[in-house]
Amino acid sequence: LWGQVSNDLRKTVGKTNHETWIAPLEIVALKDGIVSFEAPTKFMCDWVSRNYGEPILSALRKTGAPVERITIGLGAARPVAPANTPAPAPAARKSARATEDSELPGAPLDARFTFDSFVVGKPNELAHAAARRVAEGGPVTFNPLFLYGGVGLGKTHLMHAIAHELQTGRPDLRVLYLSAEQFMYRFVQALRDRQIMDFKELFRSVDVLMVDDVQFIAGKDSTQEEFFHTFNALVDQGKQIVISADRAPGEIKDLEERIRSRLQCGLVVDLHPTDYELRLGILQSKADAYCARYPGLKMADGVLEFLAHRITTNVRVLEGALTRLFAFGSLVGREITLDLAQECLADILRASDRRVTIEEIQRKVAEHYNVRLSDMIGPKRLRTIARPRQVAMYLAKHLTTRSLPEIGRRFGGRDHTTIMHGIRKIDELMATDQQLAEDIGLLKRLMES
Ligand code: ADP
Ligand code: MG
Repeated sequence: LWGQVSNDLRKTVGKTNHETWIAPLEIVALKDGIVSFEAPTKFMCDWVSRNYGEPILSALRKTGAPVERITIGLGAARPVAPANTPAPAPAARKSARATEDSELPGAPLDARFTFDSFVVGKPNELAHAAARRVAEGGPVTFNPLFLYGGVGLGKTHLMHAIAHELQTGRPDLRVLYLSAEQFMYRFVQALRDRQIMDFKELFRSVDVLMVDDVQFIAGKDSTQEEFFHTFNALVDQGKQIVISADRAPGEIKDLEERIRSRLQCGLVVDLHPTDYELRLGILQSKADAYCARYPGLKMADGVLEFLAHRITTNVRVLEGALTRLFAFGSLVGREITLDLAQECLADILRASDRRVTIEEIQRKVAEHYNVRLSDMIGPKRLRTIARPRQVAMYLAKHLTTRSLPEIGRRFGGRDHTTIMHGIRKIDELMATDQQLAEDIGLLKRLMES
């Protein structure tokens, strides 16, 4: 039972989290609707209950088992997924030098995440170019490289691609890739085991450090502190650092100011939400791979265009749709037509049809700028209110299909020329006001996800 549940959880929590937190758990008792687990350390018990209790419970329930609750106690379960667990994919730490001396506690790399499989389009060309530059392994030109963007836009893919490329091109370099969560975990583990000096030494010995999803350490004080010192030590030695986050450094709450400014002093690049061309390009490249794998399978014209048009949320969803479509097509042995796509992807298509409403935009913008919702539609002309209002108008234009007069009506009956003026103003300001551009990027992502 647990084997299967654990497998299911891999899909919900992701491979790396699964390996770190779920795989080491063992079921030790099953009584009266209570499933008791054991984890190898106290920290893990707390961490897993707090962060993964819900997913574990619901995955257990999905099997139909009458589970009331779960408990996680300290036990002699398997050791924590160690740094040297054999990885399914070649891992960065297997560079020539890394095997000679100490093993790097990196996360396994996904073999599919290479530059070859990364489709470049307008929304990601800058991020891609910067990643390529780092992957050359030449002298450090910008440090750190900070990649940010919404879920599923390719941050992790690019970081793995850098690691793969360096592995082949510069096997002499010690490359370490891990998530910020894993960084914290290693740190806490080192504290507990009184091996903090080893920890410091190890992290300061790498040539390229990549930390994924750094927003995770915000608010975690001692981890932030340690991260900051590691970061500085490496930069001082001229070592390359690559960081990713789901938002710009300036937008990460509870991040220490000095870390924020450090993160901003290299190259900060934004992975923009995908556009139609990029989505189609990604679909085409994945479909080619599938067609090669299932030679008998045919796909009707227009299916990929339809998907690129309709599924705009994120690349992961897009990939999932295509995978399902090919699996379905090969099972029933039918050509993949538009009808088949509509039938077999009904749920995904419905979910991505969810449209943002003007009310929702007004609410989120008001929240973001800390102004009253009523002021969004009210008459006040104070800059502190008028500017957020214009931002909301701008977003209403870009995220909904409403016409200007309609938008005007929702903004307290304003004239369409006022709306147009507001939108133009924001367009103009965004060209020079970095903060505003970032605010809008963030708000867009918040509402599109
Ligand atoms: P993020 O880390 O930004 O949340 P990921 O890097 O995990 O996103 O990407 C999600 C999925 O989408 C991965 O399977 C990745 O391979 C795929 N993907 C994202 N962008 C691209 C792209 N430009 N070309 C090909 N695949 C992509
Ligand atoms: Mg990621």
